[in-house]
Amino acid sequence: MILQPRDVGWLEVICGPMFSGKTEELIRRLTRAYYARQNVQIFKPKIDDRYDETCVVSHSDRSLPGVAVADLNQLKNSLESQVEVIGIDEVQFFDGPIVEFCQQMADEGRRVVVAGLDQDYLGRPFGPMPRLLCVAEYITKLMAICVQCGNPAHRSYRLAEDPQQVLVGTDEQYEARCRRCFNSGYASSESPPANETNH
Ligand code: ADP
Ligand code: ZN
Repeated sequence: MILQPRDVGWLEVICGPMFSGKTEELIRRLTRAYYARQNVQIFKPKIDDRYDETCVVSHSDRSLPGVAVADLNQLKNSLESQVEVIGIDEVQFFDGPIVEFCQQMADEGRRVVVAGLDQDYLGRPFGPMPRLLCVAEYITKLMAICVQCGNPAHRSYRLAEDPQQVLVGTDEQYEARCRRCFNSGYASSESPPANETNH
């Protein structure tokens, strides 16, 4: 971040594929806010119960206490009035109104930091992410490492053959892949989902 805002709110979006370090980066930023004695609250959707109901945990096992919420209403009900910094992990799983909520929080002077998958397993824009990226002041797009060839990876490749956009499972069901390995993987699978892509 180059310009540090003063006395105003703003929205930061951290995006990228699975394993790119989005949660680690979210935890890093929010930990620094704690050190600065700011009032921080972290949320994540209940759908992501891979690890812990009460903690936001990264693939490298770093964690921060967080509240798992079923939807935006529950998030609003859990919000403390004194909160200065709001973190949301896996924000792609929330419905569209999360964008207006983030905007409102920033308009009211809060810092909002959200992390989420920008693309689904077919490379399609994921849920509210395009609009969040559009209205954010700060965007960080991270990449993982392609497990097939070692190049930078900006896609999450689904190993399980299941057409649902939301398939929360173990890490073994997904892997980070570069563009080439992503395309060639689906091209050679038995029922390639590539024809579903909307570019
Ligand atoms: P995200 O929230 O983007 O899914 P995390 O912050 O939870 O990512 O995890 C990032 C960590 O995942 C890395 O620091 C590394 O330890 C681990 N990791 C596992 N597979 C990969 C990969 N293919 N590329 C990069 N990091 C990986
Ligand atoms: Zn590759």
